[in-house]
Amino acid sequence: MLNPEILVELKNSLQEEHDKLVGELTAFAKPGLVKDDWVSKFPKFESEENYSHAQKEEEADEVEEYEARLATEHSLESRLLEVKNALERVRTSQYGICRKCGKEISLDRLKANPAAEYHVEHQSQNI
Ligand SMILES: [Zn+2]
Repeated sequence: MLNPEILVELKNSLQEEHDKLVGELTAFAKPGLVKDDWVSKFPKFESEENYSHAQKEEEADEVEEYEARLATEHSLESRLLEVKNALERVRTSQYGICRKCGKEISLDRLKANPAAEYHVEHQSQNI
């Protein structure tokens, strides 16, 4: 069993990461209709002084920017889900236990990634 002090420490770092991820997502996306899905806002370049810019070129830039946002959004979104799931496991006292076999996940592993869901053997099978 995890030492309660360490559990609190890990829970705090999960909570911190959760808030940070939500902050990063909120900067360019908003929560979607589906739970845990985020929707990137379409960028509107506010470059009023760039009238000389051809309209077409500007639209192409916006699409490119939007695609980059989508990629970032998806990686932040999936990490946020992992972190939320880990926090849920803390609440239900299932934290630190491999979801596949029920073995305890080593503390080193949890410190490296507090959202780890599997013990080291099963993790490598999941990648
Ligand atoms: Zn396992």
